[in-house]
Amino acid sequence: MKKTFTIIIFLIFQQLLNAAEVNIYSARKETLIKPLLDQFNRDTGIKVNLITGKADTFIKRLEIEGKNTPADILLTVDAARLVRAKEKDLFQEVISDALNKVIPNYFRDIDNHWFGLSLRSRVIIFSPDKVNKRELIDYLDLANSKWRGRICVRSSSNIYNQSLVASMIARHGINKIEIWASRLVENFARSPKGGDRDQIKAVAIGVCDIALVNNYYLAGMLESNQEYEMNAAKKVKLFWPDQNGHGAHVNISGAGVTKYAKNKEEAIQLLEYLVTDKAQQWYSDINYEYAVNPEIKNTTILGEWGAFKSDDLNLSLLGRYNRDAVLLMDRVGWK
Ligand code: FE
Repeated sequence: MKKTFTIIIFLIFQQLLNAAEVNIYSARKETLIKPLLDQFNRDTGIKVNLITGKADTFIKRLEIEGKNTPADILLTVDAARLVRAKEKDLFQEVISDALNKVIPNYFRDIDNHWFGLSLRSRVIIFSPDKVNKRELIDYLDLANSKWRGRICVRSSSNIYNQSLVASMIARHGINKIEIWASRLVENFARSPKGGDRDQIKAVAIGVCDIALVNNYYLAGMLESNQEYEMNAAKKVKLFWPDQNGHGAHVNISGAGVTKYAKNKEEAIQLLEYLVTDKAQQWYSDINYEYAVNPEIKNTTILGEWGAFKSDDLNLSLLGRYNRDAVLLMDRVGWK
C-alpha cells in the first residue's frame, strides 16, 4: 500500500515536472542561445519555449499584450534595450542571491529588473600592413585627421554603435562627443554598410585600414570553417582601445523576467542557470563572448587575446543616453 502511494506521488511529481515550462522572447539569434536552453531542459526537466525576433518588436508586443503575454523572459543583446523595457514597466524585480553574487553590479539593473549574462567588447581591428599598433589609442583618437578616409564602421541604426556613442556621451558630455562624431564621420572610408563581419572583410581587402567591431565576430571568423572568412580574419589584428583610460567599451547580452510572467519561478531558475559556471564557460567557449563571472577562464582565442581593461560604466547609462546618441549621430551625418 505504502509502495503504491509512493508511486502515485512520484507520478504526480513527474506530471508537475513535465508541466513546468518557461517562455522566452529572445532578440538573440537562436543558434547563440538554444544549446544552453536545451541543456537547461535536460538538467531540470523544465521545457523552454523560445521565440526569436527583434528586441524593439518584442518590447512593443509586451506593451500590447500586457497581462496576457505568454512571455516570462525578455532576452536581448544590448543593455539599452533592457533599460527601455524597464522604463516601459515591462519587467519585475527579481531577488536572487545567485544572480547578485555572480554578476558585478555595473552589469545589472539597480532595481534588479534585468541582468547581464555575457559580455562583449567593441574593439578596434586594424590592418598590420597599413597601421602601426602604436598609432592606435582609444575611441576619441578615431576623430584624428590622421585617420581620414581610413575607417570602416556599420550604420548608426545599429545598437552596438548607438551604445558606444551613448557611453562616450556619459563619459565626456554631449558637446565634446558631437564634435568627435562629426570628425569621425569625415574619417569614414565609405558610407556605412553591412554588419561587423563585413567591416572585418573590408579591412582585410584594403577598403579601409581600421574598423570598429564586437570582439566575438573576429573570434568567430578566426575559428570559422569557411576558408574565406578565416583568411580575412587572419589579415587583421585586434586592438583594445583606451587601456590607459576608462577601458574598452563593453555591452551585455542580458535578460529580465517580464512583469506578468506566469512561470516566474522557472524564469528565475533559468536566469540563475545562465550564470552557473557551466553556462558561463559556454558563452566563452562557444560564443566567444566574455563571461559576466570574472572567475571564468577563457580557453579559446579569447584566452590568447589575454586580459584587457574594460570600461566599468554603469550600463544603465547606455539606455539613458540612447536617444541622445541616435539624434547626435543623425545630426553629424553618420548614416
Ligand atoms: Fe552581434
